[in-house]
Amino acid sequence: MADKYDYDVLVIGAGPGGYVAAIRAAQLGLKTACAESRETLGGTCLNVGCIPSKAMLHASELYDEAASGRMAKLGIKVTPELDLDTMHGQRKDAVKQLTGGIEYLFKKNKVTWLKGRAAFEDAHKVKVGDDTVTAKNIVIATGSSVTPLPGVEIDQKVVVDSTGALELPKVPEHMVVIGGGVIGLELGSVWRRLGAKVTCIEFLDQILPGFDGDVRKESNKIFKKQGIDFKLGTKVSKVAVKGDKATLTLEPAKGGDAETMEADCVLVSIGRRPNTDGLALDKAGLKTNQRGQIAIDHDFRTGVDGVWAIGDVVPGPMLAHKAEDEGIAVAENIAGQTGIVNHDIIPSVVYTWPEIAGVGLTEEAAKEKGEVKVGKFPMMANSRAKTNHEPDGFVKVIADAKTDRVLGVWCIASVAGTMIAQAAQAMEFGATSEDIAYTCHAHPTHSEAVKEAAMAVTGKPIHI
Ligand SMILES: Cc1cc2nc3c(=O)[nH]c(=O)nc-3n(C[C@H](O)[C@H](O)[C@H](O)COP(=O)(O)OP(=O)(O)OC[C@H]3O[C@@H](n4cnc5c(N)ncnc54)[C@H](O)[C@@H]3O)c2cc1C
Repeated sequence: MADKYDYDVLVIGAGPGGYVAAIRAAQLGLKTACAESRETLGGTCLNVGCIPSKAMLHASELYDEAASGRMAKLGIKVTPELDLDTMHGQRKDAVKQLTGGIEYLFKKNKVTWLKGRAAFEDAHKVKVGDDTVTAKNIVIATGSSVTPLPGVEIDQKVVVDSTGALELPKVPEHMVVIGGGVIGLELGSVWRRLGAKVTCIEFLDQILPGFDGDVRKESNKIFKKQGIDFKLGTKVSKVAVKGDKATLTLEPAKGGDAETMEADCVLVSIGRRPNTDGLALDKAGLKTNQRGQIAIDHDFRTGVDGVWAIGDVVPGPMLAHKAEDEGIAVAENIAGQTGIVNHDIIPSVVYTWPEIAGVGLTEEAAKEKGEVKVGKFPMMANSRAKTNHEPDGFVKVIADAKTDRVLGVWCIASVAGTMIAQAAQAMEFGATSEDIAYTCHAHPTHSEAVKEAAMAVTGKPIHI
């Protein structure tokens, strides 16, 4: 029990990292509270991130299927009419139901929700709103927020961040997306499908930094085919807003003549930064690292005894499932168990059409470590994808040339986000490409392409 403290565990932040940590701590018999400054639980993910973006991606995908004539090819003749208010309504409804679900889970597991902003008074004492509480263990799970572009003001009307881009009251004529990462491509896809002309400006010479090189090139081709324009190797140096229009100044990243571009909506999506402002970390004896993150050890301990940190506020990919797994592990460590997250096997998914997913090493990173064998299988040769008229994409399996152990798997396919789970599980069990190749996969499924790519590692796929 908490003895001289109010709580055994106080979690700061109720995003996927924090709420999961709080629930698991309570399940393990620890007296637990969770401080959250938002009106609703669930953090970025449920309120303004994963869930509302997927609600808009799903709805806009169906609209696009109908509007583009692809449904007509299947013998379904429809002329869709966009009702954007209803589309936003179902997004809000999904958010309401899921955030309400976390409130229910807190009650069920007897987690106390402390409403308000938390700031440290010392390593075991935190002010939440007007109250002060003490805890034997404090877990910092304050997440991240949008990285601003210096000199560019987000007004959530003409210049928006991801939160504003989820809620646009009308379809823009020309949306310029600054940043060719996951969030920019997902939200750019939503508004392109609903009728906007979309231009994506990326500073690097290719989109989707961090993804496998082949995947980056191929997905760029697919998005171009869908109608998104790209300006790669280009820097946005100025955004001037006049009335309901913006003029962007673009410069080649490597130097050269500047040009201008007009837009009625500019989405700034250049990344996210850890939330530590106002936490008074210094009062707990903590500092952030050069990237503004809270440094931790393998067990999620900060340098201060009894203070732990997880999720977007610590180093690693800023992903909800990574935060959730860290939430479980930190609670188990606090309870004296052994909580572990294998940070080498965290899948990444882009929920566009088709989906783009990967786990483990890129081919480039794997080659830096040693000799590799690579097997690739195109979705065009997968019977299910072909039947469903989904020819774009491929699966790629990267294995160690000597041991055959799978080092990375990358997919572009309509259901790549679901397919990548089997690759993650196989890799977690230390699978070789042969293990995947000799595992029976149901027919006809997109997942058979994973098996065929694994067979291709030894040069023996059946269907190409
Ligand atoms: C548009 C968008 C789409 C995304 N899509 C995906 C996706 O499809 N899949 C995926 O895996 N990830 C996605 N992400 C990323 C994902 O949302 C984050 O990785 C995840 O939410 C991080 O979880 P967290 O618990 O660390 O922090 P957060 O979810 O950011 O939660 C932190 C919480 O702490 C609260 N807080 C902060 N400071 C304090 C304080 N001092 N006192 C009290 N409360 C405080 C905040 O209000 C917030 O609610 C997306 C993000 C965005 C923006």
